[in-house]
Amino acid sequence: MARPAEPVDLRSDTVTRPTTAMRKAMAQAEVGDDHYGEDPSVRALEEYAADLLGHEAAVFVPSGTMGNFVALRASAQVGTEVIADTEAHIVTYEMGGLASLGGIQTRTLPGLVDTADLADVAAAIRSHSVGGDYGVGGNYSMVRTSVLAVENTAARAGGRVWAPARLDQLGDLATAAGIALHCDGARLWNAAVAGAVEPRRLAEPFTTLSVCLSKGLGAPVGSLVICDAGRVDEVRNWRRRLGGAMRQSGVLAAAGLHALHHHIERLAEDHRRAGELAALLADAAPDHVDPKQVETNMVLVKVADAGRFTRRAAEQGVLIGATGPTTLRIVTHLDVDDAGIRHAGSVLAGLLHAEPATA
Ligand SMILES: *Cc1c(COP(=O)(O)O)cnc(C)c1O
Repeated sequence: MARPAEPVDLRSDTVTRPTTAMRKAMAQAEVGDDHYGEDPSVRALEEYAADLLGHEAAVFVPSGTMGNFVALRASAQVGTEVIADTEAHIVTYEMGGLASLGGIQTRTLPGLVDTADLADVAAAIRSHSVGGDYGVGGNYSMVRTSVLAVENTAARAGGRVWAPARLDQLGDLATAAGIALHCDGARLWNAAVAGAVEPRRLAEPFTTLSVCLSKGLGAPVGSLVICDAGRVDEVRNWRRRLGGAMRQSGVLAAAGLHALHHHIERLAEDHRRAGELAALLADAAPDHVDPKQVETNMVLVKVADAGRFTRRAAEQGVLIGATGPTTLRIVTHLDVDDAGIRHAGSVLAGLLHAEPATA
């Protein structure tokens, strides 16, 4: 098989470049100074996204990391805790920002995404309205939980999708405890397409969300914080404090709006390709890949030495990532087609043949 001229880049869905149509939308964007609230393209994007997700307000931010931070910080006071999954992006890949910049402590629960017992999640929440009666002596020195945070899709779980019913249950828990429920929805769009549900249905139980435009949707830059009208000023203030308030950002917002209009439905293609690749790899090396685990655009593969494996794959024109010393992560996206997947499949299957069977 002819090798593609460029490497097939499956490290992340962030590697996409804007399409010609998207660049045209960017070039034609009407702009103004967004910090004065005068960029019509940013306004249009924020209004469209708030409506799409069924909430009152949206704020355009430069990145998902900033989106998570400002959303969480708008609900969490200094010295409170955010509860998140042990593997959550906010505790793994955001440089400890909540603690270092926000004065927020993170408390992790294993399996929050799927296996954790709801009673255990409820018991972990330390609020004055739930489990607050500790009798004589009280609980006055106990840290308070301010936010329960979940990730959909769950990246380190290989792009797993939450069941809407479970999200609703967590929403009920959060409401009962008087705390906020935050969604790191960097790939909420993938979850919606995979589950054949409207994005607004997945957004419904949440107080705040952060959703990315620059992952599977293919925009070059940008995320949105989705929230209620009562929080939006605090979100904008925190964005400013972090240096994330922008000026003629309508050029970027136009790319985001184009992505929301044209690139959501097509995520189904990425999911199909991830499924096909997983099936092909499982044929070659059933111990290393479980196609049943592939719900969206990611495939996790177990190998003996992920670093060595990724270097060998790169030598053959296939770039893949690793989420740990023995776990590879392969991500499909807008810039990889069926021919690219076929090439990647044959290279990776060849390398997997030479792998020792894993336990
Ligand atoms: C990528 C990602 C983020 C952060 O987005 P950046 O734009 O890279 O800062 C947050 N959460 C999840 C689950 C992500 O995959």
